[in-house]
Amino acid sequence: MKLASRKVVSVGAQRRMQMQAARAGAPALRERFPQVARLSIELHFEERNGRTPSPQQHTLFPAARAFFRFACPCAECDGDFDLTAAVDALAGTAGTGRRAAEAAASGRLQCEGWRARERAGSRPCSIELQYSLRLGGASETDEPQLQPALPPVEKRAHR
Ligand SMILES: [Zn+2]
Repeated sequence: MKLASRKVVSVGAQRRMQMQAARAGAPALRERFPQVARLSIELHFEERNGRTPSPQQHTLFPAARAFFRFACPCAECDGDFDLTAAVDALAGTAGTGRRAAEAAASGRLQCEGWRARERAGSRPCSIELQYSLRLGGASETDEPQLQPALPPVEKRAHR
C-alpha cells in the first residue's frame, strides 16, 4: 500500500535538518533564563485516526540549548510543536530571584503540519499534543534526576 517516494530527502529528514540548525543557533538555557536550574518537558500525543505516538520526556539543564520546538512524531508530517511562548510565560511567572519557586504549566496544541505535503492526497495532521512543563529554580539542591528509559506511561489525566 505504501507508495515509494522518489524524493531523496524526505519531508521528515528536511525537517530534522532545519530543526538541528535552529537548535544550534539558540542560546544556552542559562543565558536566556539564568534563574532556571532545570526544565522538564513532558509530551503526550493523541492521534484520533491511528496509533498514538510514544510519549516523550525531556529534561533541560542550564547548558542545554534554549530551544523548545519538537518535531511532530508523525514521520510523514512536516509540522512541529512550538512551546517557546509557553516556556517564556512560565519562566516569567517563576520570577528572577535565585529562590525562584518551582513552577509548572500545561496545555494542548494541535499540530498544524501537513502529511505528505508534496504528494496528492496530502492532509492536515491530526495529532494533538498535551504538554506539561516544570521548572526547577536555582535554589534547588537535589541531584539531577537521571530519567530511566521511560516506561509505558499510564493513561491517566495528570493535573
Ligand atoms: Zn503533525
